[in-house]
Amino acid sequence: MPVSRRHALQALGLAVAGSTAMGQAVAQEAQKLRQDLEACSPDGDPWTWMLKRNQVFSKSWQRSIQSSNPKERMQIKQAIFDASCHIDPQALAQGQRPWAALLSCADARVAPEWMFGAGSGELFQVRVAGNSAFNDGIASLEFAVAALEVPLIVVMGHSRCGAVAAAMGTDPLTPLLEDLVQPIRASLQPNDDLTQAIQGNARYAAAQLVKRSPSLAEAQASGKVRIQPAFFDIQSGVVSAV
Ligand SMILES: [Zn+2]
Repeated sequence: MPVSRRHALQALGLAVAGSTAMGQAVAQEAQKLRQDLEACSPDGDPWTWMLKRNQVFSKSWQRSIQSSNPKERMQIKQAIFDASCHIDPQALAQGQRPWAALLSCADARVAPEWMFGAGSGELFQVRVAGNSAFNDGIASLEFAVAALEVPLIVVMGHSRCGAVAAAMGTDPLTPLLEDLVQPIRASLQPNDDLTQAIQGNARYAAAQLVKRSPSLAEAQASGKVRIQPAFFDIQSGVVSAV
């Protein structure tokens, strides 16, 4: 385990290891997370690894969100942060070696490090409201695959996405927001509800990456990269393939 993470967890354990039942529960939470998030780089297939890391997060997230005690909710949330992977700062200063890339929404709750127990230096990210495949984003992902040899691109929509809701609605938008929702509207199917539209939009954006980038299409065809559409449910914390 990286030294910085061990120290953070030890500090957390000392902070919560009081005589109260709540303190013991949170110390146990941190201990379990510490065991479950032992390593910072993928052990085998990166998508399987990502889902495994998300399972660890979502179980704690659900315990936190379902607690009737606001202090306990915050303590478990803190335990999730403290148990996340932390790469040595000197290694980070030398360069980046991310093991996955994401095209995801700008929504402030949809922070990929958080849901995968990851720290800085692990996930290469392109984020835009509605997670559409726009040119600069596609070019950034081309760089991630070609130069950084990232083996996985996850295109991730999320529950209750405001950008997709705006694309489905009739409220007037600024000209630039009209541009932003155009590819989301192109992905909509008749009678979609919001969740179906969000998932369809993730699949559409993933397909656009390959359609519009010969470089990514070739990398996918040769097995160099996997492009995976996905959905993050904020309430449960669960990420799933779509
Ligand atoms: Zn969103």
